[in-house]
Amino acid sequence: MKLVLLGPPGSGKGTQAEKLSKEFNILKISTGDILRDAVHSNTELGRRVKEYLLKGRLVPDEIILDLMSQKLGNLKGFILDGFPRTLPQAIGLEKRTDIDFVVAFVLPNTTVISRLSKRRVCIKCGAVYSLDANPPLRKNICDRCGSKLRIRDDDKKSTIRKRFLVYKRETKPLEDFYKKKKILRYLDGNGSADEVYRRLKKLISNKV
Ligand SMILES: [Zn+2]
Repeated sequence: MKLVLLGPPGSGKGTQAEKLSKEFNILKISTGDILRDAVHSNTELGRRVKEYLLKGRLVPDEIILDLMSQKLGNLKGFILDGFPRTLPQAIGLEKRTDIDFVVAFVLPNTTVISRLSKRRVCIKCGAVYSLDANPPLRKNICDRCGSKLRIRDDDKKSTIRKRFLVYKRETKPLEDFYKKKKILRYLDGNGSADEVYRRLKKLISNKV
């Protein structure tokens, strides 16, 4: 199964990708993963990626596509989480491999904003909590290592709004792109992670 998960920040697609990957033993690949791998590999391409990241600039589509093609190689199945993010990336991906399904997560902005603003991370060990779904046992303290929890800069309300606008401008058009190819399916992203997962499995059941 070759699957793409599309959804705004906070839609829960990362969690769902993780669940599918575990249950069906399919590799989950995110742009963040391949950029990190590239930097660690210390290749020519990796060094260029590092420069972009250090300057806080977006890594160009061409570089991401090159890295992605290397990673995808001849894999028979994968789950792409957060890639493609732009139309040029989607067009580039299409030239390199076929996609069976694209699942677009649908949920109201207000839900996502409230979800993200309830997210807390541990500065030390990276554990992620949600004040709703899995709160820490002690307020603002990490269950795993006892360090203080905090709100990521990415999850602050002003930043969330900005991330939404970027998503709407750059990624939302992919829905039409894949709709025309008749491989787009919409997924109701409301409810708990388990509820969404049940829906997701149903949606793709004839492909896994
Ligand atoms: Zn911790």
